[in-house]
Amino acid sequence: MIYNKTIETLPLVELRKLQNKRLKHTLNRLYKQVPFYKKQFDNLGLLPEDVKGVEDLHQLPFTKKSDLRDHYPFGLFTCAPNKLSRIHASSGTTGKPTVVGYTKNDLAIFDEVVARSLACAGAKPGMRLHNAYGYGLFTGGLGMHGGAEKIGMAVIPISGGMTDRQLRLLEDFQSEVICCTPSYAQTIAFECEKRGINPSRFNLKYAVLGAEPWTEAIRSDIEKKLQLKATNIYGLSEIIGPGVSQEDFEEQGTGSYIWEDHFFPEIVDKDSGKPLPYGQEGVLIFTTLTKEAFPVLRYWTNDICSLTYDYSSKRTHIKMSAIKGRSDDMLIIRGVNLFHTQVESILTDIPELSANYQLVVTKAEAMDKVTVKVEMNASNTSDNINLATHFARKIKTNIGISMDVILETPGTIPRSEGGKLNRIVDLRNK
Ligand code: ADP
Repeated sequence: MIYNKTIETLPLVELRKLQNKRLKHTLNRLYKQVPFYKKQFDNLGLLPEDVKGVEDLHQLPFTKKSDLRDHYPFGLFTCAPNKLSRIHASSGTTGKPTVVGYTKNDLAIFDEVVARSLACAGAKPGMRLHNAYGYGLFTGGLGMHGGAEKIGMAVIPISGGMTDRQLRLLEDFQSEVICCTPSYAQTIAFECEKRGINPSRFNLKYAVLGAEPWTEAIRSDIEKKLQLKATNIYGLSEIIGPGVSQEDFEEQGTGSYIWEDHFFPEIVDKDSGKPLPYGQEGVLIFTTLTKEAFPVLRYWTNDICSLTYDYSSKRTHIKMSAIKGRSDDMLIIRGVNLFHTQVESILTDIPELSANYQLVVTKAEAMDKVTVKVEMNASNTSDNINLATHFARKIKTNIGISMDVILETPGTIPRSEGGKLNRIVDLRNK
């Protein structure tokens, strides 16, 4: 189902016109209301009207997470605090939290893009959504909630964690759709296996998974074990929350549609910041086009992917590839760049191994060393030494780095307890 057919299939020429009109409005708002942005324009000797359209955006500077922290809590907002309807924030474990705000209109846009995303993932009015994204300051839970209600679903606001209760309600309430992090979907699947619960006792048809990088290896693991179709949802609180982009359940593996009428994307080189052409991998940048309380100009997401227009698909909006990782999570091992998703991708081809793994990075005699710990599938009967050698060889061939492989029995490597899972343990500076 296409939730908003007119907009989602708008011819590209029309889409650009709409984006340019909205961009003009956003730039004026930022220039007039936020001293930080006015200063940026003044430094460049530019006025908002000098930016004729989205193709001129590259002339403007990026906005980074540190700018949000420097203006904590409301310094980059374009409306007075008494006009806000909601405030979200990051956990702030590594410093001041980043704070984002929404007016009533912003929340309506949030609902709209999540409704589009859910429909794109296979959901229909009348279905139930088992919403296992965290509720609270994190945008996941409440964000999915609003969009699901808008599309006409009943929401089970279970939040993350307490897996026993999740399993019970999945069976009792017969929800057709689940949303959570991919690693938590793996936990649910694993706990079913452990307890001998056949997922056919549930009624799940679709999983909408996001908030962390994941690959086809995890998709096939979840789809097989939970007997459903899993698609990717992407978002970040600085732009709106989940629902910035979504993969279509009938176009799996071809990328996720970015709802371009609200969020204009660019890809730039991670070192030079220079714009890169479609299809090339770099840092994803967003400019919001319709936000009222907290519009952002060229926000540096740190997420690495590429953009392409897929003319054979159902909608006209641009697609982003699966996120490879965050540029600040990239490991440099003996001079070679490494994202953990590259190791994960290889697991797709080795059915004896599960998609639950961890990379442990250490230093041995001044050399970085990576050990991959991976759980075997319960059904594995092959020789462990051969299996480990086979995996290590594939890693070396595909990635160019030698890694030690340790095979573990199912249930020994940490799993998500409800939210995002960190798959890298870096012990080099410990
Ligand atoms: P926090 O910053 O507190 O973790 P956010 O929800 O704003 O909370 O996190 C957004 C980040 O999560 C994104 O910038 C990206 O790195 C990651 N993310 C979200 N969705 C996906 C996805 N589908 N695939 C990969 N990474 C994702």
